[in-house]
Amino acid sequence: MRASILIIGNEIISGRTQDTNSGMIAREITARGWSIGSTLAVGDNYGEIGNALSFLLSKNEVIIVGGGLGPTADDITTEAIARSLNKTTFSDEKSLQWIKSLFLARNLPWTENNAKQAVFPTGAIPLENPVGSAWGYMLAENGTQIFVIPGPPSEAEAMLQSAVLPWLEKKFGMSKMFREVLHVGVFGISEARLDEMITEADIAEEGISVGFYPHFPEIVLLISAFSPSVVVAQKKIAAIRQRLHALLGRNAFSFSGARMEEELAVELCQKGLTLATAESCSGGLLGDRLTDVHGSSQYFLSGVVCYSNEEKIRLLGIPPSLIAEKGAVSEEVARLMAENVMRLSGSTLGVATTGIAGPAGGTPAKPVGTVFIAVCDKEVTVCRRFSFRWDRRRNKIITAQYALAMLREMIAVR
Ligand code: ATP
Ligand code: MG
Repeated sequence: MRASILIIGNEIISGRTQDTNSGMIAREITARGWSIGSTLAVGDNYGEIGNALSFLLSKNEVIIVGGGLGPTADDITTEAIARSLNKTTFSDEKSLQWIKSLFLARNLPWTENNAKQAVFPTGAIPLENPVGSAWGYMLAENGTQIFVIPGPPSEAEAMLQSAVLPWLEKKFGMSKMFREVLHVGVFGISEARLDEMITEADIAEEGISVGFYPHFPEIVLLISAFSPSVVVAQKKIAAIRQRLHALLGRNAFSFSGARMEEELAVELCQKGLTLATAESCSGGLLGDRLTDVHGSSQYFLSGVVCYSNEEKIRLLGIPPSLIAEKGAVSEEVARLMAENVMRLSGSTLGVATTGIAGPAGGTPAKPVGTVFIAVCDKEVTVCRRFSFRWDRRRNKIITAQYALAMLREMIAVR
């Protein structure tokens, strides 16, 4: 089965809002062995919507339309679809009552423009929205099935799952192929280099698909094996996993879809270790990520965000003379921050970040992006100097990420 996607909204085509719905829909469609013909995005404009629809109608068994179903005057999707298909519209009493009762239940004042959300092109079958007020609908036109769903991503996803995908699965059947997926989290290799390495690994063969999903600063590799036999698909994935493990080493930080802090959490718990953080340039982001993990209180004892020199001195006991001599952004200060926070909290591990996140504050010797990260246990302290080249936010993100990676390295050799 071949489906296409039509995204509608001025905020999307003007670049104000990033379109995430089309990717989400496409992933669900392709995961079922169906294909995507094309994805179009147009503004809230009768002519554009009509043109896009007639273009897509000639080529697809299914069209999924997203956005512009709301109550306001700029939401014209339904009227535009009706006009371009030469249909009238009707107000559906059941949907209208449902929307009214939702307003009542949520104690929201009813305004008449909300009734628009219960208006559909003639012949359409309304589809209940499990998480919002704008209903979707389905409509058949010359053998093509059109689905129309709301724009807000949570509503789009909920309606896709509750109404669209079940209908498609019933009508077109799931592909008879089994799909086994390997979800590899990669960090510390550029996308281009990773691409080369994957090519070298020669995993591409009939029935294997490889997807790259950069999610700064990580890259997620999704490797799917399709086979009529579930055992064959699993065997293929197991072999690829082994090859990638050998090839990427610690750069492949997860084979389960887990984030790096989750992998770290498992290792800390297994070895009964505890952790304290002293953060300067990462501003608490490291502690934030550590505490995203359920059960983090087992190993995360405390985190200090000591941004000013005075607080590095007062809270962590860094000697003023050391800061004066080496600078707050220095290997010596990073090491001592990690060691002192470990000692003060009584943890088995310490970690510290200090650096220049930018855009200002750099010097020729220590340009913007210079970051020192130190990790320690009772016996050793390891410090690395980095030269990041991103903006302020991304410099913070990658600092937290490297701190997690360095902790994992330290634990691995214990
Ligand atoms: P509402 O009832 O909320 O108005 P709607 O169906 O009319 O829903 P839109 O008005 O098109 O949807 O969009 C509502 C919100 O959803 C917008 O703020 C927009 O940022 C977001 N949105 C719409 N389309 C997309 C998309 N393709 N990807 C990501 N976000 C989207
Ligand atoms: Mg809207």
